[in-house]
Amino acid sequence: MTFQSVFGADPDIIAAAPGRVNLIGEHVDYSDGYVLPFAISSRTTVSIKKRPDQKIRLASAQRNTAIFETSITDLKPKSDGKWERYPLGVIWVLGIKEGLDIYVDGKVPLGAGLSSSAALECSVATALNALFNLNLDLKDLARATQRAENEFVGVPCGIMDQSISLMGKAGHALLLDCRDLSTKLVKMDLAESNLELLIIDTQAHHSLVDGGYAERRAACESAAAKLGKSMRELSLEELEAGKSKLTETEYRRARHAVTEIARVVKCVTALESKDFDLVGYLINKSHASLRDDYNVSCPELDVAVDAAIAAGAIGARMVGGGFGGSAIALVKQSEIEKTKTAVMAAFASNGFKAPRFFESLPSQGAELILN
Ligand code: ADP
Ligand code: MG
Repeated sequence: MTFQSVFGADPDIIAAAPGRVNLIGEHVDYSDGYVLPFAISSRTTVSIKKRPDQKIRLASAQRNTAIFETSITDLKPKSDGKWERYPLGVIWVLGIKEGLDIYVDGKVPLGAGLSSSAALECSVATALNALFNLNLDLKDLARATQRAENEFVGVPCGIMDQSISLMGKAGHALLLDCRDLSTKLVKMDLAESNLELLIIDTQAHHSLVDGGYAERRAACESAAAKLGKSMRELSLEELEAGKSKLTETEYRRARHAVTEIARVVKCVTALESKDFDLVGYLINKSHASLRDDYNVSCPELDVAVDAAIAAGAIGARMVGGGFGGSAIALVKQSEIEKTKTAVMAAFASNGFKAPRFFESLPSQGAELILN
């Protein structure tokens, strides 16, 4: 399928935006922490043509259904889980008033924790920004696409995914300060050091029996209230000194947040001095903290991480919310195949469904392809 074959004409504009992986800084976005994501090479491409009427027609290569049709005057927020809501949300938030034909082709795997949703939103936003000469900068577009997902799709995501999909740069990670939303590109030239990032999609999805996300967030908030400081401001020494004021669970959740925020800061320094052994060490510590203090890992993620490290990976950890989804491993380029084989074997011997693998170097953020 192509735009041509679906709509019978050529598009006015084509844009693409990538998915992302967060190198380190997990479950600290809502604690005013730092995150350090990078854009992956897999991207979503969108082709758009203006229409002379008020119709909006949508098609996706990943959805083998007929063309979805609505009207620009008919855009209302609603959480119905339909894929069309992502591009419609962006049209809505940008205040577009003209009809459009839109064709999406996404190479970011859907629902694997690599943010195909942000890739879709940001490709549409980049195309519309140019097509209608909106002159919005990348920060404006990040806020707009986050609003589209929060308010129009009904998913309460943070701003990390959209920021990195828009602002990513090849050979760099993006330090994002979740307190003031300031960003800084950090050089991360894996190829130069003969390294690559192996993404292991465990294909496991354990539903949260105990309302996991809300509980973690609430524990960090109550620890912060009892100690009088946010997780961002709290030092490990202060946390230890105030331990008796906290429940055991609050203490462990807070210990993850405090140490993880510190690890991101150390990781930036390690990247700047190309000390990838230290980067690997910090990634391993992040996984242990997510597993033991935050309790958001699961057997598949632990097996993926342990098998990758046993096969020689410099570091490995679960990424994303947890209880399934993907893990990442920092691996020598020459050892990628060996690592994959080891992880496959470990999954088979544990009776898990086979994982999927993706490889990526830090890649370019959203860009126009045809203008
Ligand atoms: P993730 O962002 O981690 O991939 P989400 O659940 O946030 O997972 O977003 C996945 C959803 O985004 C899909 O279920 C679908 O609704 C939408 N989506 C993303 N990419 C595409 C695409 N290429 N075609 C159609 N829908 C897509
Ligand atoms: Mg998403």
